[in-house]
Amino acid sequence: ARVQGRSWAVADLDELDAQHRQRQLALEQALQSALNNDEFVLVYQPQLDFASGRIQGCEALLRWHSPTLGVVPPAQFIGLLEESGRIVDVGAWVLREAARQAAAWERAGMPLRVGVNLSARQFMSPRLTADIEAALHASGVTPALLELEITESLTMHDVEHAVALLQRFRALGVSVALDDFGVGHSSLAYVLQFPIDVLKIDRAFVTHVTRGRADRAIVRAIVALAQALGVETIAEGVETQRQCDFLEALGVTQVQGYLIGRPMTAAELEALARRAPGARA
Ligand code: C2E
Ligand code: MG
Ligand code: MG
Ligand code: MG
Repeated sequence: ARVQGRSWAVADLDELDAQHRQRQLALEQALQSALNNDEFVLVYQPQLDFASGRIQGCEALLRWHSPTLGVVPPAQFIGLLEESGRIVDVGAWVLREAARQAAAWERAGMPLRVGVNLSARQFMSPRLTADIEAALHASGVTPALLELEITESLTMHDVEHAVALLQRFRALGVSVALDDFGVGHSSLAYVLQFPIDVLKIDRAFVTHVTRGRADRAIVRAIVALAQALGVETIAEGVETQRQCDFLEALGVTQVQGYLIGRPMTAAELEALARRAPGARA
């Protein structure tokens, strides 16, 4: 009976595996036409600045509205785009669209810094600098309002390439944020090489900042590092008022998370940013 039970379980796993492969295939197929069919949209998550009490920036996050599969979260399709190399074209679209939106807000008298996530493939692509320049020119946005979010893992494989690229970004006048900071394996000396404007503290530390002394110590150390470098800190994934208060007391300069607002449409973000200081979604 045990053997039979086991073989049933294996059959179930095979079945699940087949379902998974089928789903991946369906995603892969639907992704091929997604860009041309205008199925991608950007949503914007607000970032609250403690000093001014205002929304001073946001992060552009990619959403895929597939007519056949519904709304698919980035975790399910960014990797596939990365594997096929299509992320470079999609990433160029994200840059153009985010710059266009940032320019529209700037012209409306409401300058907001808009963060864009770069993928590994994009970061290695020889097209990247040209794509950024094209987005800046087409939109006419003040370059510093466009912020490129990179992760430690992007820069780890080829540090010289990374430093050269970041210096080119600097020359273009765009801002650079180091995303998901603290979860990678970088040493302090490593980070000090990079010309960056913002350190984004990963949600992993924010979640327990009110409970664990270790997480609090890490946040305090990151803030001290950022202050020494003269860069801002944005804490990610802030969900409760208590976390927010702790982070402010620790010297973090900005917060982003569901407490401030979920990723939202450009119109919703604009309405939130126009509200009185301290307002939340
Ligand atoms: P990320 O860059 O670290 O973005 C933050 C993620 O945390 C977003 O997930 C956001 O919705 C989520 N988040 C924000 N606040 C909270 C909170 O308070 N609690 C919790 N639990 N989560 C929160 P999302 O939109 O699903 O994006 C996931 C990842 O996909 C991003 O992580 C980024 O690495 C990637 N991604 C998103 N858009 C793009 C894009 O345009 N290009 C590339 N290459 N990657 C993207
Ligand atoms: Mg990000
Ligand atoms: Mg992040
Ligand atoms: Mg993260």
